[in-house]
Amino acid sequence: MSDDGHLSGKVALVTGSTSGIGLGIARALAGAGAHVVLNGLGDPVVIDRLRAELAAEFGVEVRFHGADMTKEEEIAAMITSVEAEFGAIDVLVNNAGMQFVAPVDAFPVDKWNQILALNLSATFHAIRLALPAMKKKGWGRIISTASAHALVASPFKVAYVAAKHGVAGITKTVALETAEHGITVNAICPGYVWTPLVEKQIPDTAKARGMTEEQVKKDVILAAQPTKEFVRVEEVAALALFLTTDGARSITGSLQSIDGGWTAA
Ligand code: NAD
Repeated sequence: MSDDGHLSGKVALVTGSTSGIGLGIARALAGAGAHVVLNGLGDPVVIDRLRAELAAEFGVEVRFHGADMTKEEEIAAMITSVEAEFGAIDVLVNNAGMQFVAPVDAFPVDKWNQILALNLSATFHAIRLALPAMKKKGWGRIISTASAHALVASPFKVAYVAAKHGVAGITKTVALETAEHGITVNAICPGYVWTPLVEKQIPDTAKARGMTEEQVKKDVILAAQPTKEFVRVEEVAALALFLTTDGARSITGSLQSIDGGWTAA
């Protein structure tokens, strides 16, 4: 993990960073000197401990905002409060996400609406609200955690696949609009990373496919990845961190695969 301090004095907002990939990215950005705003769901006592530990470990300011990313007004309130305290958000990481697994003709409409709100619309809202201050500064990094499912589909994940393909579209469009403002906009497309999001979908995938949970792990999840290994959170975080460096200033509008070869097949 880089500790070169290239984000010293900069401010990063990472949505969905109380767990999994978001937390890994928040740690990596703090390790490079950024003040970090965490966001997500969870037990307030546990989150406050996490916040204090990160601040102490990296010597940066760490705040938490509990905006529900499915709610436009709460996203707006969070961005306003971060900008009031720190000025512009320099690094925006759109990462909050959820999954639901069911055949399309049995897919609950409320789950469709929730996944589209969280995995797609939240990215649009956070970007449109954070961008004016970023543009004024003439520097910014927008990184969205999309998925291999932004590039290819799997059965029984209609809302997730649709939302992540949408994130790819937002990424390319906003990259074009910001290309002359010192701002880069990219999406990271991980394959399977062992986090609570993957763990929680195993029972429903087993049901949808008529398999045991062990078969799902081996014959569905790891079978998708030629390496036959889960991608590690730290690897995704390292890629996100690289995208914030000066060396990545010409990388914009890109979809960065980190999937053990899944989408090469
Ligand atoms: P996770 O369940 O560990 O983390 C999800 C985070 O989002 C948590 O912090 C959770 O509190 C937060 N969150 C959920 N609902 C929220 C809401 N309404 N408002 C605010 N925050 C909310 O899962 P993860 O695997 O770390 O997923 C992070 C991102 O990575 C997601 O966008 C996911 O689609 C994507 N992704 C994950 C994998 C994988 O295999 N784990 C692969 C590709 C992409």
